Amino acid sequence: MIKNLRLLLLGAPGSGKGTQTSRLLEKIQITPVSSGDLLRTEISKKSSLGVLASKIIQRGGLVPDHLMIALIYREFQARDWLGQDCSWLLDGFPRTHNQAVALDDKLTAAPINCVIELDVPEEVILERIENRYIHIPSGRIYNLQYNPPKVPGKDDITGEALSKRPDDNAEVFKRRLDNYHKEIDPLKEYFKDKGILHSIRGETSDIIFPQLYEYITTKFASK
Ligand code: ATP
Ligand code: MG
Repeated sequence: MIKNLRLLLLGAPGSGKGTQTSRLLEKIQITPVSSGDLLRTEISKKSSLGVLASKIIQRGGLVPDHLMIALIYREFQARDWLGQDCSWLLDGFPRTHNQAVALDDKLTAAPINCVIELDVPEEVILERIENRYIHIPSGRIYNLQYNPPKVPGKDDITGEALSKRPDDNAEVFKRRLDNYHKEIDPLKEYFKDKGILHSIRGETSDIIFPQLYEYITTKFASK
């Protein structure tokens, strides 16, 4: 049993955060929150945040920190995650140093206690993106090459249509990668100083997952 694991997965766009999350969910009890999925839900609802975020995401920018912090805080409140004794997994937030500080200020009782960086070579990432499709309502991710849906173009669980993310094209993707590289060093430094950063390098999710799982179970298992 895993207890009190409050995990952040860090990694470039396309490094496999979503894939590692689904694989982890098959083995341990933890609730995932993906900032990208939350924003895509806002976009589907056409909320005012969604309308704004859609424009930013389409050009590969970053949604302003104060809006992201408010969105995530609302999610934490709704899930009653501000106290102790909870396990959760964040993907995509915090992604700037400012966001990390703001989150820690709000989560004084139970802050992030484990950060794992997925360190995947860039040429591998670029190849993956071309073949990536997602099921927007659930955030489930497919790759036509490595992890195709059972029925072409349809989500395995609901049978609903899959789509290509509008920001998964070569030009926008390059901007997303650039933004990632701009923000990542201070963010990593922040968690390194707290002694909670661990990096795993590998070319495929199959190579990374066993190491991720081993690390987590060794550190957070309770009998
Ligand atoms: P991946 O495709 O591997 O998930 P990603 O992490 O870049 O890559 P998402 O997390 O799905 O993609 O986010 C999509 C977009 O949503 C980002 O390009 C950015 O515009 C916006 N976004 C998501 N999280 C944040 C955040 N914490 N701060 C600012 N913008 C964000
Ligand atoms: Mg994602």
